[in-house]
Amino acid sequence: MPVAAIVVCISYFLSAKLALNLSFKPDYISALWPPNGIILAALLLTEPRRWWWYILSMVPAELAADIPSGMSVQMALAFVGADCIEVFTAAILLRVVFRGPLQFNNIKNVILYVLYGVVIAPFIGAFFGAYVPAIDGTDTAYILRWRLWFVSDSLTHLILTPTIFLWLTWDTSNKVDIKVSKIIEMTILVSGVLILAIIFYYRDAVFIGHIPFLVYIPLPFLLWASVRFGLRGIFTLSLVFTVIMIWGATRGFEPFASSSPVNDVFNLQIFLVLALLPLILLATVIIERQRGEYVLKESEKRFRLLSNVAFDGIAITEKGVILEVNEGFAKIFNYAPTEIIGTHVSQLIAAEHLKNVVEKINSGYDRPYESVAQTKDGSRIPVEVYGKSFSYHDRNLRITALQDITERKRAEIEREQLHKELKQKNKELEQVLYVASHDLRSPLVNIEGYSKELDYSLKELGDSIEKEHVLLTIKEKISPIIKKEIPESLHYIHASVSKMQALIKGILSLSRLGTTIRKIDELDMNEMITDIIDSHKYRLSESDIKTEVSELPSCKGDSVLINQVLSNLIDNAIKYSDSGRSSIIHISGYKDETQSVYCIEDNGIGIAPEHQGKIFEIFHQLEPMRATGDGMGLTIASRIIEKHHGMIWIESKLGKGSKFFISLSS
Ligand code: ADP
Repeated sequence: MPVAAIVVCISYFLSAKLALNLSFKPDYISALWPPNGIILAALLLTEPRRWWWYILSMVPAELAADIPSGMSVQMALAFVGADCIEVFTAAILLRVVFRGPLQFNNIKNVILYVLYGVVIAPFIGAFFGAYVPAIDGTDTAYILRWRLWFVSDSLTHLILTPTIFLWLTWDTSNKVDIKVSKIIEMTILVSGVLILAIIFYYRDAVFIGHIPFLVYIPLPFLLWASVRFGLRGIFTLSLVFTVIMIWGATRGFEPFASSSPVNDVFNLQIFLVLALLPLILLATVIIERQRGEYVLKESEKRFRLLSNVAFDGIAITEKGVILEVNEGFAKIFNYAPTEIIGTHVSQLIAAEHLKNVVEKINSGYDRPYESVAQTKDGSRIPVEVYGKSFSYHDRNLRITALQDITERKRAEIEREQLHKELKQKNKELEQVLYVASHDLRSPLVNIEGYSKELDYSLKELGDSIEKEHVLLTIKEKISPIIKKEIPESLHYIHASVSKMQALIKGILSLSRLGTTIRKIDELDMNEMITDIIDSHKYRLSESDIKTEVSELPSCKGDSVLINQVLSNLIDNAIKYSDSGRSSIIHISGYKDETQSVYCIEDNGIGIAPEHQGKIFEIFHQLEPMRATGDGMGLTIASRIIEKHHGMIWIESKLGKGSKFFISLSS
């Protein structure tokens, strides 16, 4: 037998003993029957499969209480039977109605409990209970016994069962909420009810036949309990009040004293039910409302917390006026939330962005856009704005989420800067590639030319050795060198040159226009021109072209780039020389206050006036068949000069020759 059933059994016995003192002989029907209240509470608190323990515990408890008070065993057992029918009816009905355990959490549930547990079950039980006294041969009227049983058990189920149920289902985790002031208040309430009851009820009957107004005196205390202490408070105090009243009434004290104690008790019972039921319902309504408010407050708190921990700023506005903000929003603008509420959004946006923002608000624009916020101290912050209009109680409101994008913007600028630098570096690299490959071409052509020359010379040497009388020993010694080893080496040189040319071509095709100035130096142009002519020496002599170089002034520029420009111009002067006359290239220059001007003049094929503007365009070639370049030389040259803030121009006559001028800072 579980401990709970033993506890219930003992409680049943003790309360039965007490209740029998309140019962009216010879029927033994008590004015209040706590044992049923206890058993019903036990059934409501446990699973149906364990109910039989409690039902069993009723038998010894009832017999032990009833028989010593003069009741027959049959009658005691019959009472157990009637009590069982009543509590079972209540427990099963409530289980079915609640589809599980009882819940006292709202007005609907309390009304259901009252209906099934307080009215219907005792109503049915009373039919059986009222019959029981007949076993021992009572002569009272059945209907009176039924009435007494019904009202007694209704009152018990109304007051005692919920009190036990509520105390035993009290969520102990909330105990921390108990305050000293509450305990004092509860003590005042209970002692107030006790004192008033003793003063006004435990007196000899003087108001026989009517109910004095004094009977209502404790009611304000009960009302107080229902408002301040909820269901547990009102039930407990009601129980105290009921016990005092019933006890007094069964002893013939006021306020319901009349000629018959049975009538007194009945009147009191009706009074108690009618007085306490509204108070219980009132307490339920208050609890329900408090719970609703609590849930709302909690949800509001959670929402506020959520909006405050959100990384974005959130604001609700009406016609541009701020109604509500979260901490994040106020923080972006450096205001306290209370300061910012009531201000107009125009005060928070940088002046030049205001028009755009107002347009977006008016048109209900609901996509993210960027703007600039103005903080309390006037500083400006880039923000991303995401607004949405909505209607609330017929008001047109707008919710705006704001994100400080300073970091994002900084990262964007940094990325752009990096991109620029990378592009620049790329350009420089391309430029280096181009210059290197372009300059490599001339020495390479020299190597190719001279190695061909060597070929001829070797052939001549070989023939001479064959024809002339040369000592046999010498012949034998140098013959393999001339015929095998040197041609073999020359073959490798040719192969390497071809390979190099192919490589340069590849590099050239890879390279792009790149004209970044790396370093500006004072340039010795005489030296530079001498070097350039040297590197073109083979082609000059091959084409029988003479060069004349006047004294050249110095200038400021990037030596590599300027070298590339002059190389290109001299290269062109060689390429486009007129084979019909002896060619000459003249290089001259002069200097004024700000600039040095150089001229590369040839007497080559010249360029018709209509083509002169186009030759600086990329890949532009006047005679592609004749041109050996790639049509990029003059384009690059003009870009390089532009970068140096200089100028390049041409004077040319078709069939006569051309003059290319460049001016650079002196
Ligand atoms: P390319 O590498 O083809 O020579 P350039 O950009 O250096 O490319 O020159 C473009 C065109 O300008 C050449 O194809 C040629 O027709 C013309 N040109 C350049 N220099 C001269 C010059 N000194 N005399 C006559 N025509 C020239």
